[in-house]
Amino acid sequence: MRLLGSIDRLASELARKEYSAVELVEEALDRVERLDGTLRAFITVLPETALAQAAAVDRARSRGDRLSPLAGIPMALKDNLCTRGIPTTCGSRMLDGYRPPYSATVWRRLEAAGAVLVGKTNLDEFAMGSSTENSAFFPTRNPWDPKRVPGGSSGGSAAAVAAGEVVYALGSDTGGSIRQPASFTGVVGLKPTYGRVSRYGLIAFASSLDQVGPLARTVRDSATVLHAISGHDPLDSTSAAVPVPDWAARLDGEVRGIKIGVPLEYFGTGVDPEVARLVRQAVDLLVGMGAEAAECSLPHTEYAVATYYVLAPAEASSNLARYDGVRYGWRAPGAKSLTELYTLSRQQGFGREVKRRIMLGTYALSAGYYEAYYLKSQKVRSLIRQDFDRAFERFDVLAMPTSPEVAFRHGERASDPLRMYMADALTIPVNLAGLPGISLPCGFSRGLPVGLQLVGRPFEEETLLRVAHAYEVATPEWRQAVPPGIAAGRGDDA
Ligand code: GLN
Repeated sequence: MRLLGSIDRLASELARKEYSAVELVEEALDRVERLDGTLRAFITVLPETALAQAAAVDRARSRGDRLSPLAGIPMALKDNLCTRGIPTTCGSRMLDGYRPPYSATVWRRLEAAGAVLVGKTNLDEFAMGSSTENSAFFPTRNPWDPKRVPGGSSGGSAAAVAAGEVVYALGSDTGGSIRQPASFTGVVGLKPTYGRVSRYGLIAFASSLDQVGPLARTVRDSATVLHAISGHDPLDSTSAAVPVPDWAARLDGEVRGIKIGVPLEYFGTGVDPEVARLVRQAVDLLVGMGAEAAECSLPHTEYAVATYYVLAPAEASSNLARYDGVRYGWRAPGAKSLTELYTLSRQQGFGREVKRRIMLGTYALSAGYYEAYYLKSQKVRSLIRQDFDRAFERFDVLAMPTSPEVAFRHGERASDPLRMYMADALTIPVNLAGLPGISLPCGFSRGLPVGLQLVGRPFEEETLLRVAHAYEVATPEWRQAVPPGIAAGRGDDA
């Protein structure tokens, strides 16, 4: 099973011409055909364009062109990333049938590197959710147990990678949407520092929190993809002009002298004791390899979810004001006035959770409540950021669980928004502080993957990847495990 191998391995096999990029993408399309009827990771599959992209890579190779390691590797994009001429739905009726006139910067960069786009993956509508059940189209299943959710909102990307339908995928993370599904499906998910990756062409949810990042099978693969998508973009004024190191080339498995902080608040109420135990065990292993670890405190952690659910909906209510049925998106038929056109189009185009967020956000921003909610939340956000600043005076990285629990069952939380919101209690603070965070497999609880989350200083993805990679190399058993029924033989090539 080639598609369960790493980018690294497939790139060298392609370079040696053991098989062609066309053969590889045919295998991916075949797997999608066989598996996706059950998994439903994809909203759109793109056989023709994928085959054409692969054929172009094969031609370039036979001409002797120098190729990126990503050339010819089958991958997927979360369907909130704009792809020129290719449907981009954002998991919403509102954008059903929308074909963007431009591509997201991340996709333009990957396309230039010869990436082969197998399809666009399912998500919670407008990336609002933690289970992919809020997709307007259908829920995605977890490859480890089809009765369970793959997490969200990048659940389609996570499931597609975990099942070997593609080798890697891009997701977006506003409050945990890359890391939490990675943790639920046993893959590696990386949320870069805010500003590391351009948001141009990512359909906006909460602009001060959104970041694009990879979901992949290994830490090295995540580093390779991050390298390809990072860097300043004149089209996104929040993208930072900082150097983009070749992270993958610097991974050497060495963690001696690295100081790991273990924040107590991330192991408290609501965290499954088995999840907590596995994460502590992962820290002990790193200590055995020469790292140093000590407990620490991030005292404002308990306010993070409440803060996020003021700020993110406030930004969303503003970002989503553009969907009014006029310029693009769903237009309600038969409206008799402009107001009715707005009202009906929004009523019909948006699902329940999106409406709930718009109402929450509009309320928080309205005159008389602005100071009490929005402004107050901004202040608490600063306190949360300062907690991390203080911790990073003593530590190089922080280690904690990604999610308080393993993947839950479909339907279990769909009618209980508060319980659903708590699924991101341990990832949200990282977005509020704008820091890089990675989730990687650290074991199984009752047969379901558990994720270790590592958080680093701003723009120090290098340290984060170093520690994650060292842990990964020391624990091949997590990477070799393959979801039941998905085909054995996941490669050990971290
Ligand atoms: N689950 C969180 C929410 O619903 C985070 C989503 C995300 O990161 N896009 O807002």
